[in-house]
Amino acid sequence: MVIETNNPEETFRVGIELGEKAEPGQVFTLTGDLGVGKTVLTQGLAKGLGIGEPVNSPTFTIVQVYDEGRLPFYHFDVYRIGDVEEMDEVGFEDYVMGDGVSLIEWANLIGEILPEKRTDILIEKDLERGFDYRRITIT
Ligand code: ADP
Ligand code: MG
Repeated sequence: MVIETNNPEETFRVGIELGEKAEPGQVFTLTGDLGVGKTVLTQGLAKGLGIGEPVNSPTFTIVQVYDEGRLPFYHFDVYRIGDVEEMDEVGFEDYVMGDGVSLIEWANLIGEILPEKRTDILIEKDLERGFDYRRITIT
């Protein structure tokens, strides 16, 4: 499925819809260049799960856990990961196998340990379509 957005609010809205429909144990991956809108979409997804507190990229912690929504939400940002073994140390397996909803920003960096059953989200710019244009591909 491909969705095109032209401003951050529309991307946020895509996130809300994904969050509203998310099922226990669902794993989302999010791939795209810096500043493309991964965190905007994640914030929408958190809102769709009923999380009220602000969600930012957990840049220095790898994973941030939010418990106040309809389902637990595990937000990973693996941008600064040095080695996939660091994921073992934070208990990646347990989160991903659990009943909460996991979302991994920069998932391409840990491709070898991702579960097979997952929802991949790719966000891309296309400057010919305008500075705020984003193409969101969900598979
Ligand atoms: P990332 O997490 O991928 O590094 P962010 O979500 O932090 O990126 O930032 C995306 C930036 O792009 C924000 O400043 C946002 O306002 C801007 N932006 C412009 N157009 C869009 C759009 N269509 N969708 C998402 N973000 C957009
Ligand atoms: Mg981000």
